[in-house]
Amino acid sequence: MLYQRSSALFKAAEAVIPGGVNSPVRAFKAVGGTPIFAKSAKGAYVYDEDDNRYIDYINSWGPMILGHAYEPVVSAVIEKAKHGTSFGMPTEIETKIAELAVSMVPNIDQIRFVNSGTEACMSAIRLARGFTGKEKIIKFAGCYHGHSDAFLIQAGSGAVTFGSPNSPGVTQGTAKDTLLAKYNDIDHVKALVEANKDEIACIIIEPVAGNMGCIPPKNNFLQQLREVCDAHAILLVFDEVMTGFRLAKGGAQELYNINADIVCYGKVIGGGLPVGAFAARHEIMSHLAPLGKVYQAGTLSGNPLAMAAGMAMLSSIESDTDLFKRLEEKTEYLHTGCAEALNKYDIAHTINRKGSMLSIHFSEDEVIDFDSAAKGNNERFKSFFHGMLNEGIYIAPSAFETWFITDALSYEDLDITINAVAKVAQNL
Ligand code: PMP
Repeated sequence: MLYQRSSALFKAAEAVIPGGVNSPVRAFKAVGGTPIFAKSAKGAYVYDEDDNRYIDYINSWGPMILGHAYEPVVSAVIEKAKHGTSFGMPTEIETKIAELAVSMVPNIDQIRFVNSGTEACMSAIRLARGFTGKEKIIKFAGCYHGHSDAFLIQAGSGAVTFGSPNSPGVTQGTAKDTLLAKYNDIDHVKALVEANKDEIACIIIEPVAGNMGCIPPKNNFLQQLREVCDAHAILLVFDEVMTGFRLAKGGAQELYNINADIVCYGKVIGGGLPVGAFAARHEIMSHLAPLGKVYQAGTLSGNPLAMAAGMAMLSSIESDTDLFKRLEEKTEYLHTGCAEALNKYDIAHTINRKGSMLSIHFSEDEVIDFDSAAKGNNERFKSFFHGMLNEGIYIAPSAFETWFITDALSYEDLDITINAVAKVAQNL
């Protein structure tokens, strides 16, 4: 494939944008080479500025569960824009989408919309602290909850890809209030809780981790966390920025039948526009301004275009009774095909999957936490990534990310992908 225009565009971008990108994971720094510049996308495909076509497994890092340029979303945004793009006043559609979201998700009475997953998680822990009157939080190594200070402690995703899981610029004061636990290790969590008795406001977790590759919870881990939280008046915060409206209508809460106290959303909930949200029961949400003292705000929060896109997206998900079954079947097909292809050429690997989230770890050991994810063969991942790109398959340019499967994928697309995996595996 030729990447002439992408290369030229990247050069120009580097002059005026740090690293040439507005979010680090977009750069190909971890895998080498030049990022490809997107020109357009439709359904399961993205087209670059050199007119190469890719089957897309990033899907804007999750939002495009129904495919790119999904018609109901596009027309809702166009129609809305004709009537003004932002008012700084309440609008009816904010209530409509809130009603819909509350009806789809278990155990939440109210929801507040923000502009990103980062904002949702940042606001959720402020609310947890305000509600409990306690200051410390527990997060898990390898989980990513956005780039707010409190979370850049052994963070996953781009933070670990670029070697800054603990970012300079985060003060020691902030860092000391974030305690770090091991994913899938309840004894470690219990020990931290014991050592910090009555000081922990919340435990925040990706209920299915997606930022150290995909790592599902094991052995009732979420249920055990729920019990620890109940025993110590700690709030359980599910960061469902990836899993929300993706693993089930009601997200991981529904899938695992566990109620969290606060739930964070992003990605799918905005249909590809900049939206996040956090939600909880009345009792907790009533602590937020203007009702309560916990301050949280946003000029563009509940923006009409974003709400229109989100409404079209959630309505489609809500009314499609087979969607999650189809996604499960397609992802399982891909899983089986990729495993067969890699086995055929004796490539050591572990594939983790939950619903339509999947990742190939180039490690033969079970991958259950950050340490086991970090043992993957990174050099092999780099070759795999470039091999796949060359075959017209676009996966995330880092071993610490997840493939997001979209319903727009046909079985023919999946077969093309599996054949590409076999071809690339042969030369690894
Ligand atoms: N939480 C999780 C689980 C995420 O995956 C992400 C982004 N990948 C975020 C929070 C932050 O969301 P945003 O990038 O929209 O700020």
